[in-house]
Amino acid sequence: MLALTILGNNSAVPAFDRHPTSQVITHNGNNYLIDCGEGTQIQLLRYKVKRSKISHIFISHLHGDHYFGLIGLLNSLSLLGHTQPITLFAPSPLKEIIDIQLKVSDTTLNFELHFRPIESAATLVETASIRINCFPTDHRIPCFGFSFEEKRIPRKLLPEKAKAAGIPAAYYERLVMGEDYQTKSGEIISVDSVTEPTPPGPKYAYCADTRYNESILEHIKGFDLIYHESTYLHALAERAQERFHSTSIQAATLAEKAGVKKLLLGHFSSKYASLEEFQKEARTVFPNTELALEGLCYPIR
Ligand SMILES: [Zn+2]
Repeated sequence: MLALTILGNNSAVPAFDRHPTSQVITHNGNNYLIDCGEGTQIQLLRYKVKRSKISHIFISHLHGDHYFGLIGLLNSLSLLGHTQPITLFAPSPLKEIIDIQLKVSDTTLNFELHFRPIESAATLVETASIRINCFPTDHRIPCFGFSFEEKRIPRKLLPEKAKAAGIPAAYYERLVMGEDYQTKSGEIISVDSVTEPTPPGPKYAYCADTRYNESILEHIKGFDLIYHESTYLHALAERAQERFHSTSIQAATLAEKAGVKKLLLGHFSSKYASLEEFQKEARTVFPNTELALEGLCYPIR
């Protein structure tokens, strides 16, 4: 299971006790931090997300509301004695920014920080249990969304059927990987008769800052959950277009077209004290919409 915790759901400036963008995906004891706006380390503490379990950090783009909390977090981790390496994926100029911050403060981090620049759609992390991809969005400066897919063993064993067919247990590992079994007499026992396909694992996508753009669809089709920015209500669609942001209705339209199961709205402009209208508007297009509220944890199947 993947679990998503929202740490910050506001755009540009903090307001109404809402913080700049940050969220974390938890999977198999690892915390994958997505964006790190100012105050992220305080939010991690407030919502009891273990900083020590952060193995990877993904920065979507270099507007300050998405990374101004990063150097503070790295510095605190070092002071707290963190020793596990952290891999940081971000647009390439961030490397220079971090290097100069560490240099002028004469700071050496206690742990290895592996910087990996992102430039185009790619697979960033692939292990036996998770795949993390990035994809470009439509923003004023280079910006990337991130998708998380839990990988499942390709097939589910039906042990009673396998046993009845006389297949030795030592061969089960190959059955779940999709191999047929051949008996000593040469008879083929089809893998379909003793296993069944496993449903795909949960999929989550963070669509970062973006204008409405259908090029994102191919990266999020059929996902269980997506987070799409909704900086403005739809009355300000023109302003959204000018500033490379989206409205509630646009986020909902993209979710609808992508055939996702659920939509979370976030990155709210600080001009809105109340957020109810965002949900109301979006639900006219895509009923299964919720607000990405700070501190809430969303299990993804
Ligand atoms: Zn932003």
